[in-house]
Amino acid sequence: MSQVYNWQLGRAMSYPHPEAHPKWQFAFCFNLNRCIGCQTCTMACKSTWTFSKGQEYMWWNNVETKPYGGYPQSWDVKILKLLEEANPGGQKWNNSIYEGKTIFEAAETHIGSEPERVLGYLPTDEEWRFPNIYEDSAVSKKGRPMVFDKKGASLPEHKTWFFYLARICNHCTYPGCLAACPRNAIYKRPEDGVVLIDQERCRGYRKCVAACPYKKSMYRPSTRVTEKCIACYPRLEGKDPQSEGRPMETRCMTSCIGQIRLQGLVKIAKDGSWVEDRYNPLYYLAKVAKVALPLYPQFGTEPNGYYIPPRWVPRNYLKQMFGPGVDHALDTYMVPDRELLAVLQLYRRAKEIIYRYEIKEGPKVFETEIHGKPFTMYNDTIIAYDKAEREIFRTQVEEPFYVRPNIHQNSI
Ligand code: SF4
Ligand code: SF4
Repeated sequence: MSQVYNWQLGRAMSYPHPEAHPKWQFAFCFNLNRCIGCQTCTMACKSTWTFSKGQEYMWWNNVETKPYGGYPQSWDVKILKLLEEANPGGQKWNNSIYEGKTIFEAAETHIGSEPERVLGYLPTDEEWRFPNIYEDSAVSKKGRPMVFDKKGASLPEHKTWFFYLARICNHCTYPGCLAACPRNAIYKRPEDGVVLIDQERCRGYRKCVAACPYKKSMYRPSTRVTEKCIACYPRLEGKDPQSEGRPMETRCMTSCIGQIRLQGLVKIAKDGSWVEDRYNPLYYLAKVAKVALPLYPQFGTEPNGYYIPPRWVPRNYLKQMFGPGVDHALDTYMVPDRELLAVLQLYRRAKEIIYRYEIKEGPKVFETEIHGKPFTMYNDTIIAYDKAEREIFRTQVEEPFYVRPNIHQNSI
């Protein structure tokens, strides 16, 4: 095992390969406060990449209803349980430093039938079979199924709650799938950090399926090799026929009806840290405003998918899922400052990847108090630029109001 630095854990950790980093990293930020569970993203991915024989149960993008839903069933509960068994009572954060064991560290001491590089498990066929079991199922009163708390729907936390968790492969910095592959068939592209499986080298041993804690590596029985999300790399490269050479976001991102998804590329230094890129929207959301948090950072793979947590969900649940940054993220998101409010308008205005934004200040619209804190809204304009510094679009904080003409084209 090598020692590598994982900034999400605030410490070095063991990993089966030496530290090596790409020049850019594919990353995204999903705002879970906005997801309506419409599954348009799921179908956009399925109809692009996994519509063939043997891919029937393969959902590279899925949206599960938390807390009960999961694809494959109970994937996160099972991994959390394995980690707890490997390190009873020790899976804790000390402020922003993780003192527990990651899936790589826990594997070193785990006593199983044979030694493994990564702690994991292989889901059963049954667990892959129901991609959206428990959809829209809310938490009820403890021990009383289907009995909901009538006073349960006022902020800051609802007593009766659920939320939609949209997931794709996190194109992790230290992928569990890559670490476990005995054929070295999995690699991380140096140009954009996208994690791919070489279909010629793969022999379908499914070590990656067991090792990916997010269960985003999936076996295809008709070809007997494993497949996974490829981050729509032709689109990232600007090779999609629609793109005219401009890098474009993936299919699941661009189809998002709820406008929860923003994807891009962040610049990576030789040591793996994010190069300061103050006006890259993802850099701003994760490193400046710190409202975007990784999913289960304690697994140790340094996932590059980030989430703005849902504000009505009990904080302890969110802290287990998104780590110690939850309170700061939600306090900031609920009373956004001028810049955050403007950056949130960048979501889903265009298909091209935004490399930089610029804000032009506008007039004050109104001021009020939110949870006892002063809030002022300004009608600022935010301008998005692509890789070549061309303007992609400009939009305002206050949405323009249009009055329809009296005659509609489809009126009878
Ligand atoms: S999410 Fe899973 S499949 Fe994707 S890179 Fe990370 S470990 Fe590999
Ligand atoms: S398309 Fe967007 S809003 Fe709809 S389920 Fe997917 S992530 Fe949620």
